[in-house]
Amino acid sequence: MLIVQKYGGTSVGTIDRMRAVARRCLATQRQGHDVVVIVSAMSGETNRLLALAAEIQAHPDPRELDVIGSTGEQVTVALLTMALLELGVKARSYTGWQVKVLTDSAFTRARIVSIDEERIRADLNDGTVVVVAGFQGIDGKGNITTLGRGGSDTSAVALAAALKAEECQIYTDVDGVYTTDPRLVPEAQRLHTITFEEMLEMAGAGSKVLQIRSVEFAGKYKVPTRVLSSLTDPDLPVTEEAKAGTLITFEEDPHMAMEKAVISGVAFQRDEAKITVKDVPDRPGIAYAILGPIADAHIDVDVIVQNVGHDGMTDMTFTVGRADYAKAMKILKDKVQPHIKCREVSGDERIAKVSIVGMGMRSHAGIAAQMFRTLAEEGINIQMISTSEIKITVVIEEKYTELAVRVLHKAFELDQV
Ligand code: ADP
Ligand code: ASP
Ligand code: MG
Repeated sequence: MLIVQKYGGTSVGTIDRMRAVARRCLATQRQGHDVVVIVSAMSGETNRLLALAAEIQAHPDPRELDVIGSTGEQVTVALLTMALLELGVKARSYTGWQVKVLTDSAFTRARIVSIDEERIRADLNDGTVVVVAGFQGIDGKGNITTLGRGGSDTSAVALAAALKAEECQIYTDVDGVYTTDPRLVPEAQRLHTITFEEMLEMAGAGSKVLQIRSVEFAGKYKVPTRVLSSLTDPDLPVTEEAKAGTLITFEEDPHMAMEKAVISGVAFQRDEAKITVKDVPDRPGIAYAILGPIADAHIDVDVIVQNVGHDGMTDMTFTVGRADYAKAMKILKDKVQPHIKCREVSGDERIAKVSIVGMGMRSHAGIAAQMFRTLAEEGINIQMISTSEIKITVVIEEKYTELAVRVLHKAFELDQV
């Protein structure tokens, strides 16, 4: 049986940690598994590389940014492979382009198109542990690409899908998916399982424990995916450890669902910005005229609210990541405003999104009211609201993020699951 294991930055943050990872790979192999390992860069390294680029260019050239950003992972695959060789394990490292992780050409946020698994299979067949660099790929023209921050998760799940692995194990610095970020709320509880739909919403709402695209891959190809801690004893048999961690499930167990809390988790995303386009003509095509050019610039837009029209005019407000704020404002002021003749484009860079997520929302009424009441009791003003079948998101002033997450976590009794 084939197991794909992914180790994040902290898990390979020191040489000793890498040795521990090598021991875990060996323990897994000794259990009779074929092992493919995906690694991130050492913790802090990707930030360091991107900061170097920013010292030279205020807006670094995206193609060159990927050339530099991808080097962190090239270091860790070789070091981990050496650690494996030292343990007497047959092992070999590959970069994303050697394995051929083919992506589109959207530098710094490329999407995986296909993976050529032939070379990996040949190695596995002669008992070699295959170590593949996460986060990186190559486009059809031979350019190096990267998959967006946190992209090694996606490399791992995509490889697990291509290789039809028995399980994709995401090893990180927490021992699973929690009801909220345990760094912010110490009372957060580990979830033994989480449905794919909930995990998708949590990741989309800012829980960076898994990159959202990795969850999309897991769902599309039904890859059994488990989040685990790399900081436990590496020599423990994996099956023992597998009892810990969080398994992403694809079908809701009706028995579990009855016992489960209505809300599974609280997610938050700081570093957001909101943009308002005021007094635009209320006619067909206007949303496209505003958001089309934003999409063309590969800027992701999230919560979108359009007011009810008045006197043939309306306002539109939406959120973007703070890193994209200046670029989005420039596009709107230079290209959109002269064209649609709106009165004003204004923005606020100090907002955050807080979301509650849970399958139970489908069958329980009053969840939104409870959320809004809880925030009102703390005097937190809600600026925007958006919902899906299993998620409610509010946009609030950034300084209230921590308070909002804490009170919601308590109000929905997530410290008791
Ligand atoms: P890695 O380097 O292993 O990829 P990340 O830092 O990307 O690790 O993701 C793990 C971190 O995600 C944890 O340290 C934790 O602070 C954060 N996190 C946010 N939300 C959650 C959550 N709901 N459950 C667990 N961890 C979370
Ligand atoms: N090293 C990359 C990052 O820091 C990819 C990853 O760790 O998943 O975003
Ligand atoms: Mg990560």
